[in-house]
Amino acid sequence: MASLPSCIFCKIIKGEIPSLKLFESDKTYAFLDIGPLSSGHSLIIPKHHGAKLHDMPADQLTEILPVAARIAQAVGCEDYNILQNNGRIAHQVVDHVHFHMIPKPNEAEGLGVGWPVR
Ligand code: 5GP
Repeated sequence: MASLPSCIFCKIIKGEIPSLKLFESDKTYAFLDIGPLSSGHSLIIPKHHGAKLHDMPADQLTEILPVAARIAQAVGCEDYNILQNNGRIAHQVVDHVHFHMIPKPNEAEGLGVGWPVR
C-alpha cells in the first residue's frame, strides 16, 4: 500500500492526525470533512496514496462509491452530491485522491451552506 509521509490524508489513515472515522477496510477510509458544506459532508479515500484519479490502480477504487452510498444511507440522506476534484484549477486542495459525499440540504429545514450543495 503506497503511503506518502508528508500527505495529510496518509497521516489521517495512520492515525497521526485525528479524524472522525465513519468506515475503514483494508483499502478504504472514510471520515467527516473538517470544513463541511452541509451536515454529514464526508470524505471517502483509498488508502493507497495517489495524487490524482488517473494515478490510482483501479482495484483500489472499487469500494469508494458503495461506501459513499452506505454513509449517505446511514445519515438518513436521500439527496446528495458525489464530488471528486483533480488539479488546482478543478479545486483540488489535498493531493490524495478523495471523493466527497455532500448531503443536499433539505430546503425546508435550512441545513447547509455554499456551492455546490444548494
Ligand atoms: P478538495 O478541494 O481537495 O477536493 O477537498 C479537500 C477537502 O479536505 C476539503 O473539503 C477540506 O475541508 C478537507 N480537509 C482538509 N484537511 C482536512 C483534515 O485535516 N481533516 C479533515 N477531516 N478534512 C480535511
